[in-house]
Amino acid sequence: MGNGPELKGKINKIYSLLNDHFGDLKWWPAESDFEVMIGAILTQNTSWKNVEKAIDVLKRKKALSPSKIANMDKGRLARYIRSSGYHRLKADRLKEISLFITRECGGKLDKLKKEGLENLREKLLEVKGVGPETADSILVYALGKPVFVVDAYTRRIFSRHGLIGHDAAYDEIQSFVHKNFPRSIRKLNQFHALLVEAAKNFCKKKDPLCRECPLGGLRRRDGFI
Ligand code: SF4
Repeated sequence: MGNGPELKGKINKIYSLLNDHFGDLKWWPAESDFEVMIGAILTQNTSWKNVEKAIDVLKRKKALSPSKIANMDKGRLARYIRSSGYHRLKADRLKEISLFITRECGGKLDKLKKEGLENLREKLLEVKGVGPETADSILVYALGKPVFVVDAYTRRIFSRHGLIGHDAAYDEIQSFVHKNFPRSIRKLNQFHALLVEAAKNFCKKKDPLCRECPLGGLRRRDGFI
């Protein structure tokens, strides 16, 4: 993975082509920052449709707050979020993140937002069940920090366009983006959302739809198709 002007040009071109195609995706779809945090945990290993169902139940039961989840019986919480899969494990994780928020800022996320990015990231990574992708999703979409989220879709698109190797590490991919793409909250937020949409609509795991994809011309120009 390099940082030359060509790669910098390419990553910014990918952004602008996808942005022109999909427009402003207004991520993350949630009514509150806490809901984003809960969604970031529930979406681990499942589709967003299943997450929405679980969040709807939490809302209907008036349980969507850090103190309610932190104090709720674990079995009951697991039943509420059953649709998201791995519901017992995720109930544990929701309780851990809710306890963290209660402990760190008394449930007031605006207070947490005032902390520096690196410090906050380290603290989030110490919460059981929060890995780099979940921590970074929380940082950019709930806490407004300028950080790029790396996921399976990012890896797929970037590697198919020769930006990264197939086995590149999470931190390596993230620092590549941070070095070559504007460190703007709005753009980093939108970039991840665009890559997810591009992967879902065109860049399928098997048989990518390069001919219809907004990045098809780029891939052709690079001689990949
Ligand atoms: S579908 Fe093809 S052109 Fe589109 S992102 Fe995937 S590899 Fe690139």
